[in-house]
Amino acid sequence: MGCWLCNLVKSGQWGSKIFWQDEICTLTDCRICGRPMVIYNKHDHPSRKDINHMLKIKDDFYGSAPITTSPGRDHWGFHIETKWWEGTYSDF
Ligand SMILES: [Zn+2]
Ligand SMILES: [Zn+2]
Repeated sequence: MGCWLCNLVKSGQWGSKIFWQDEICTLTDCRICGRPMVIYNKHDHPSRKDINHMLKIKDDFYGSAPITTSPGRDHWGFHIETKWWEGTYSDF
């Protein structure tokens, strides 16, 4: 299957691509807009518990940085709006 997020999750390549990964979610840079994002590993909607887990990962890495929803079609997830991107964000 040609889903780049699934391929990334499966590859488990830490470093420039993956900053965190566990059985539920992956923290990585969005290939489309470059902002960090947390994505659910599966093509499914996460449970409330899994969502809380994903928000906790965000808090651990980025503190109170706000989130916006992911443009990904198949994976539930969200972008993290870091300071770096303030003022430079635009809808593409
Ligand atoms: Zn996928
Ligand atoms: Zn993006």
